[in-house]
Amino acid sequence: MDFEAYARELDARDPLAKFRDEFVIDDADTIYLDGNSLGRLPKRTRAILHDALENQWGERLVRGWGESWMDAPARIGGKIARLLGAQPDEVIVADSTSINFFKLVMAALAARPGRKQIVSEIINFPTDSYILQGVARILDDGHSITNVAPQDDGVVPTQTVIDAIDAAHCALVTLTHTSFKSGAIYDMQAITDAAQRAGALVLWDLSHSVGSIPIHLNDCNADLAVGCTYKYLNGGPGAPAFLYVRRDLQAQLQNPIQGWFGQKNQFAMEFEYAPAPGMARFLVGTPPMLSLLAIEGGVDILLEAGIENVRAKSIAQTEYMIALYDAWLKPFGVTLHSPRDANARGSHVSFGHPDGLRIDRALIEDMRVIPDFRPPDNLRCGIAPLYTTFTDIYRAMERMRRVLDEKLYEKYPKARPVVT
Ligand SMILES: *Cc1c(COP(=O)(O)O)cnc(C)c1O
Repeated sequence: MDFEAYARELDARDPLAKFRDEFVIDDADTIYLDGNSLGRLPKRTRAILHDALENQWGERLVRGWGESWMDAPARIGGKIARLLGAQPDEVIVADSTSINFFKLVMAALAARPGRKQIVSEIINFPTDSYILQGVARILDDGHSITNVAPQDDGVVPTQTVIDAIDAAHCALVTLTHTSFKSGAIYDMQAITDAAQRAGALVLWDLSHSVGSIPIHLNDCNADLAVGCTYKYLNGGPGAPAFLYVRRDLQAQLQNPIQGWFGQKNQFAMEFEYAPAPGMARFLVGTPPMLSLLAIEGGVDILLEAGIENVRAKSIAQTEYMIALYDAWLKPFGVTLHSPRDANARGSHVSFGHPDGLRIDRALIEDMRVIPDFRPPDNLRCGIAPLYTTFTDIYRAMERMRRVLDEKLYEKYPKARPVVT
């Protein structure tokens, strides 16, 4: 098969091709495969930030809060809701994913008094695991965390999660919907159903799902969710995160961090805390307005492109990447650390190799390909269909083959740099 001609053909008839031009791409020869860690800068975000600086902060000063800034967390949350299959008043932008996760874990456990089991996963994103451990320590009330483990292929079967739920004791089931290492997707409907049947709440971390796959929070009757905006939403480094609470749960749950932005009648400046109605109660302090406003451009682009179209292209692209892997990388002993079934896989593909870290380094420094590395041996290749082309994938895989064939990675040390 002529892989290169195939890539050219798919690019030529790609209905999303025009969206690449929405992004700042200074060097077309550098192939960026890390949009799942930090998405690219949308051109329209430059204009948004220019306006925020010059016209809003610069001219309107503190009046900006009353004119547009106070509404921004709910307004942008309402747009993100459309990517989550949720109602606009069920999503708000605030804080980081870590902090939102802490708030909703604490709120969920308080809503299930007497129940002491938390079900999570050994392969969860580290911050989620750390926060769960910290919550158990803070509460000091006998909570135990049951962490389900993956099979050899890195995937946790749905039944393993369901079997781990103790119907008499489970308070909360929390998983990262699309796994940050393997890209495997959990069955949201089946696991939400099982958690609720047992009387538990379910909290999904959507950081690697939002903007890459369609999500159906309402259809699945999901209780709670959090997620990042700087990955597939292209919100910018450290952009604030979002949280979702199903409408009928909002009044029942309490934010454990009672800040003045979650206060009813905030500017009455009363002494006693009383939670605001709706999602506003999950705010804490003054939002980082410049970072918050920067999110909107990337979200708008995704809404214009259509998440179903993004998903269709993502599947075609990960399939193409895996076909190239079979032809070119497998013979060098590289293993596939992502599901082969496209329906069970998000928008990144992980490859396993004992020298993964050094291969990552050689790709970045010698080959102008930017994937990332996740221990112990995962070379993670993120595909962002809004700006990744099939030709990008062809060229990246060809360069990877060269790194392996010519052992170009051997000149790099085995030690890990601070950031990978
Ligand atoms: C990226 C990511 C985070 C990041 O959390 P921050 O608080 O923004 O650092 C959290 N959870 C998951 C699953 C992630 O992929």
